[in-house]
Amino acid sequence: MAGPRLTVVLGDITRQDVDALVNAANSSLQGGGGVDGAIHRAAGPELARAGRDIAPCRTGDAKATGAYRLDPPVRHVIHTVGPVWHGGGDGEREALASCYRRCLEVADGLGARSLAVPAVSTGVYGFPAAEAARIAVDTLRSTPTSVTDVRLVAFDQPAYDVLSDAVS
Ligand code: ADP
Repeated sequence: MAGPRLTVVLGDITRQDVDALVNAANSSLQGGGGVDGAIHRAAGPELARAGRDIAPCRTGDAKATGAYRLDPPVRHVIHTVGPVWHGGGDGEREALASCYRRCLEVADGLGARSLAVPAVSTGVYGFPAAEAARIAVDTLRSTPTSVTDVRLVAFDQPAYDVLSDAVS
């Protein structure tokens, strides 16, 4: 199975035309800051209610909900909990790779073929962006999946540059 096609885009993840959005969530699945807050605002309060029913989600794992008020064609939100960066000696790299692997597994279970993915853990959680981008790209390329398209969504130009380097 060939890996999914990876495309880097600059913009807001809630505006992507894909089957499923990946959310950089926290274990409560109740919403938070950053990309998590943006996805919850766009999806409406039903998203936190759905999250509560399936929480908690462990670091490195992923769980799906519906997409509620997000614009079609988005039908699912795949919530993954990235590691908090503690200097790299605490299994952070393995946990981040696990996030991307589990997102593809969950997407396969849903029949989703296209995903938009944020730079998990690189905001408040402090994972160094260039290394996180390499882990994201390596894991997405090496995990067997039926997902054909992954959009790596950068929220600013530095994130776009780092992700573009990682895919090239
Ligand atoms: P974490 O807690 O996993 O570090 P953050 O949400 O703080 O998650 O940051 C993860 C990445 O998502 C950062 O690169 C941040 O700039 C980016 N981000 C924030 N809002 C959005 C958005 N609306 N669309 C895409 N990416 C976003």
